[in-house]
Amino acid sequence: MNPVIAIHGGAGTITRAALSAEQERAFHEALDHVLQGGQRILEQGGSALDAVTEAVLRLEECPLFNAGKGAVFTHAGTHELDASIMDGRTLAAGAVACVKSLRNPILAARRVMEEGRHVLLVGEGAEAFARDNGLESVAPDYYFTEARHAQWQRALAEGRTDLLDHDAQALTSQPEPIDPDTKMGTVGAVALDAQGNLAAATSTGGVTDKRVGRVGDTPLFDAGCYANNRTVAISCTGAGEKFIRLLAAYDVSALMEYRGLSLAEACDIVVMRKLPTINGLGGLIAVDHRGEVCMPFNSEGMYRGKALAGGPRSTAIYRSADE
Ligand code: ASP
Repeated sequence: MNPVIAIHGGAGTITRAALSAEQERAFHEALDHVLQGGQRILEQGGSALDAVTEAVLRLEECPLFNAGKGAVFTHAGTHELDASIMDGRTLAAGAVACVKSLRNPILAARRVMEEGRHVLLVGEGAEAFARDNGLESVAPDYYFTEARHAQWQRALAEGRTDLLDHDAQALTSQPEPIDPDTKMGTVGAVALDAQGNLAAATSTGGVTDKRVGRVGDTPLFDAGCYANNRTVAISCTGAGEKFIRLLAAYDVSALMEYRGLSLAEACDIVVMRKLPTINGLGGLIAVDHRGEVCMPFNSEGMYRGKALAGGPRSTAIYRSADE
């Protein structure tokens, strides 16, 4: 079993024209740093669960991505974060939603899973649980970044709601109006370890200018995150409401389990055929129980990367692998 990790930093309208060479470089470097963290754990014989936790933690700490620091703004100008993690070995799972004061929602999700009493905690209850477990709280302005604030201001000015994060990026870097359905920016990681165990983790600030209290696919197992040693580990990014309606992550697993499809075939059906029928823009990263990796998306781009234990790391942004 050759351990492997894959990560994403969100999908959306990410075109070459929208990113300067300097921004492009910054994203590649950030993705490589994240991969390195997960890869090292796998190389030292660590678990897939620890590798995805470390990768998502690093993504939450990086202001370039819409999770943890750098989360998008709600319509009220606040931040509400969602995160989830799932262990493919036991189907154990933990998630938090609508948290406003946790530095690293992924650590709270992991603690929910480890405690095992519940699967999903929301709002103040989730925050109190995290504090009781010694996790770090932050003031609301911790999440603030100038770039996301500008995106939100422009979304408000244009009356655009529920923008995916990387579409909001297009808002600030391009003068023309942007498509409100094409902007996403969740983060996630999937991994297979040397013991053959799969794990998946996802974390997000949601969509720009979302209603207060809105919950997307990220903290919902089967929709935005899923792991099962018999089939696949998956982390999704995109228009959350559509991923929920299709149970996108679980659907890939179900196609593999019940129809005997390969990972690539199952991903193609869900991302390229089913999601588009309801305008479900976005993508996912997946690793199956044999270590096959797929990172399909139907948007213009998706920040992504993968690394085999002891192997090279690769990162990509656009549709063609020419970067
Ligand atoms: N799926 C996330 C949500 O709907 C957004 C994203 O992937 O950018 O909250």
